[in-house]
Amino acid sequence: MSVLPPYSIRVSARAKRLQLKVLPPGKVEVVVPKRFNLNKVPAFVAEHHQWLQRHLDSMATQYVAEPLLPEMVRFPAIDEQWRVEYHQGLRSRVVDLGDYHLKLMGPDEPHAGKVLQAWLQQRAKQVLPPWLEEVSAEIGLAFNRVTIRAQKSRWGSCSSRRNINLNRALLFVSPGAVRYLMTHELCHTRHMNHSPRYWQLVATLMPEYKKYEAELRGAMQVIPRWALPVD
Ligand SMILES: [Zn+2]
Repeated sequence: MSVLPPYSIRVSARAKRLQLKVLPPGKVEVVVPKRFNLNKVPAFVAEHHQWLQRHLDSMATQYVAEPLLPEMVRFPAIDEQWRVEYHQGLRSRVVDLGDYHLKLMGPDEPHAGKVLQAWLQQRAKQVLPPWLEEVSAEIGLAFNRVTIRAQKSRWGSCSSRRNINLNRALLFVSPGAVRYLMTHELCHTRHMNHSPRYWQLVATLMPEYKKYEAELRGAMQVIPRWALPVD
């Protein structure tokens, strides 16, 4: 028998069964329902070994082909394209040259990559909160606070205190999908579950939501390598 790939375990209050996830750029996560016997996890991973290997292999090919630093940054959500120029320099920083042109500096590519990630975070913070405010006002569902995060497996969430988390990688999906995700989280301020009544509310506010739901399901894999949170 071959060796199992390393994996991490996340206990989730909401999970109803064991779930296996391959997160970019190639991390395996097992989602375990609360009170599940953790001793059973290795056998579960072994059982899905082939499936896992297939997914890890295809993800590896996809990400190896991508450079660590992009020459172009595209944000379909806000229809922006930024040209990126990298210069070696002692201090890591990013300079906005205007006209959607960034100058990236750092002693090496990983350092410059970190600066670019910080810039992405900042851009998302400028754009997503006012957008959420707008959707919230439009559909008449209020929230408390919004936080922008770098997450690998979730696009957003809403707490019982009506605090909303948005993944900064939403900048890489279509505007419709961003609006759907925001509507989805705002609807949780009314129903803290995915009950039929919850989905009815979503459908009333956004009848075409299913196509965006489908877009988001596959979109975690299209986040460019440079933008993935490092852990
Ligand atoms: Zn939800």
